[in-house]
Amino acid sequence: MVPDCLFCKIARGEIPTELLLETENLVAFNDINPEAPTHILVVPKKHIPSLAHVEDGEQGILGEILLALRDLAEKKGLKQGFRVVVNTGTHGGQSVGHLHFHLLGGRSLRWPPG
Ligand code: AMP
Ligand code: ZN
Repeated sequence: MVPDCLFCKIARGEIPTELLLETENLVAFNDINPEAPTHILVVPKKHIPSLAHVEDGEQGILGEILLALRDLAEKKGLKQGFRVVVNTGTHGGQSVGHLHFHLLGGRSLRWPPG
């Protein structure tokens, strides 16, 4: 846990946020600035700065996050599909330095991104 990290604070309950899912290792909550009718962030409780910082041996949390994304997509009724995005680093457009997976759905999404 990093004291000043926004998503560490949310995971610790220090910023009041409605959690859609909480397990031993992760939390999920709605993005504050949604880009689609469904826009959820899935975040490991452990402070990992980005996907580029994931270590060998941390495949467990990555698997848990993907299964959580699958379950959330089903729960939200995203039968026509959805998109999972992991912005990484400056060129990747990452703005919060704590690993997070975006789940976007509920409308047809364009490709490629900008
Ligand atoms: P990224 O640009 O990939 O790092 O994504 C960070 C995301 O966090 C953005 O989509 C923001 O809208 C979202 N965000 C920032 N602050 C909060 C917050 N307090 N609660 C929920 N989502 C947030
Ligand atoms: Zn953090």
